[in-house]
Amino acid sequence: MSDISFQQEVAKRRTFAIISHPDAGKTTITEKLILLGQLIQVAGTVKGKKNDRAATSDWMSLEKERGISVTSSVMQFPYKGRIVNLLDTPGHEDFSEDTYRTLTAVDSALMIIDGAKGVEDRTIKLMNVCRLRDTPILGFVNKMDRDIRDPIELLDEVESVLGIAAAPINWPIGMGRDFKGVYNMYTDTIHVFQPGKGSVVAEDIRIDGLESDAARTLLDDEYENFLEEIELVRGASHFFDREAYLAGKQTPVFFGTALSNFGVREMLDGFVEWSPEPLDRPTDTREVSAKEDTFSGFVFKIQANMDPKHRDRIAFMRICSGTYTKGMKMRHVRLGKDVKIVDAVSFLAGDRELVEEAVSGDIIGLHNHGTIQIGDTFSSGENFKFTGIPHFAPELFRRIRLKDPMKAKQLQKGLQQLSEEGSTQVFMPQRNSDLIVGAVGNLQFEVVSYRLKDEYKVEAIYEPINVFTARWVDCDDAKKFEEFKRKCAENLAIDGGGHLTYLAPTRVNLALTEERHPEVRFRSTREH
Ligand code: GDP
Repeated sequence: MSDISFQQEVAKRRTFAIISHPDAGKTTITEKLILLGQLIQVAGTVKGKKNDRAATSDWMSLEKERGISVTSSVMQFPYKGRIVNLLDTPGHEDFSEDTYRTLTAVDSALMIIDGAKGVEDRTIKLMNVCRLRDTPILGFVNKMDRDIRDPIELLDEVESVLGIAAAPINWPIGMGRDFKGVYNMYTDTIHVFQPGKGSVVAEDIRIDGLESDAARTLLDDEYENFLEEIELVRGASHFFDREAYLAGKQTPVFFGTALSNFGVREMLDGFVEWSPEPLDRPTDTREVSAKEDTFSGFVFKIQANMDPKHRDRIAFMRICSGTYTKGMKMRHVRLGKDVKIVDAVSFLAGDRELVEEAVSGDIIGLHNHGTIQIGDTFSSGENFKFTGIPHFAPELFRRIRLKDPMKAKQLQKGLQQLSEEGSTQVFMPQRNSDLIVGAVGNLQFEVVSYRLKDEYKVEAIYEPINVFTARWVDCDDAKKFEEFKRKCAENLAIDGGGHLTYLAPTRVNLALTEERHPEVRFRSTREH
């Protein structure tokens, strides 16, 4: 690829993820986006319950049973001269860790709000993660075909609860049974709603000008009220400012209904026009520009056995600079080794496809035989490490025991791999030979025992254990640290990555210990 065409290719990329509360409509919107963009590549599955592609994975049958989405996936589609990479995030809150890390691999996010419900818990949590990196966020208020809450109140809620300025781009005309369409306040155009066109890309029926006769006819009795409402909205809301959006300070908001595939196209048009190109990324030595031609990337997710025919694991890598070409050599920085990659994959309709070429902003899958961990950097030989890929302290803990004590080795190996993948976290207390599994949500425990049985042939049982939370500990003062380690030996453990961790039995114990050892840092997140 020539320099100029490389730069042009990078400039086309738009890499994003959806943040929303379960049931707000993420899956439905994803389907419509793919419909609009003529899907070219699918990695993983959109969602088990609705998509046969889930059949490509055996352990995902758990996911199907529960009707939830356990795994992230990556979809790539072209739209209006851009190449859009959509990174799916697990919808179930038990898998929030995976979701958080996926958010480190994108350049912007789409926030979906259920118009009937407003801003919900999980959106708040995810928004807080986006805020750590000032990720630009575009908003979509969904389910306009239902009776939703007052749109002005919804925007107020976005501003007060999420702490981000809201700039409505279009405004709904009616709702529920009386939903007539949306009015774009910037182009002075009405897009007319046509029900029953959910599964197709319907023609865009427009009325130019709110002052036009056609607009009066459409709005009928509601015409005067709507004019007043628009006056009010214009006065009370923010004017769209792209710089503020790119800085993560303002969210442009669209209204629509994903189920009827209405308003999604307008939102996608705004998205490809305004959202950022692949951003520059910090490393421990310098900032890497997406337009540098030397290759680099980092792994944000590892997923097992997406295809039962291939029992290895796939490491998902976000390319941060340069071009991946088939057969190229790259430096696995943590191991200090150069590796030749001939078989990076993308996925076409559920089948594995080898990628010939991919650039900054794209996601590729590397075959992982146990040497790749979440957070690993790959480069063209330079020794740097991308920063900011978080690991969160688990909130739930169980002791894990074997039914058959002869299988201790397999159990260790299984837990080690599952923890490298980020599916769970494992802690080995210093005072005994227990194995403690930590999770962010309860369902994670089920997934771990299912996969231990399915993939490692180990039957394990959980027992309750008195741990409230975990904190990664470190200290600049070696002497003080030794003293801390001696005094707190009872509560110290080593995690799957070899890091010293304090396991606190209660909130009070944690507070007291922190107070007694002010020189020691107790961290609730750690970087990979
Ligand atoms: P997710 O959990 O966020 O992925 O949400 P889904 O896309 O699975 O949607 C949850 C439910 O809301 C499903 O029953 C959808 O059919 C429904 N839904 C999604 N979008 C709309 C919409 O625009 N209008 C209505 N009435 N229902 C919707």
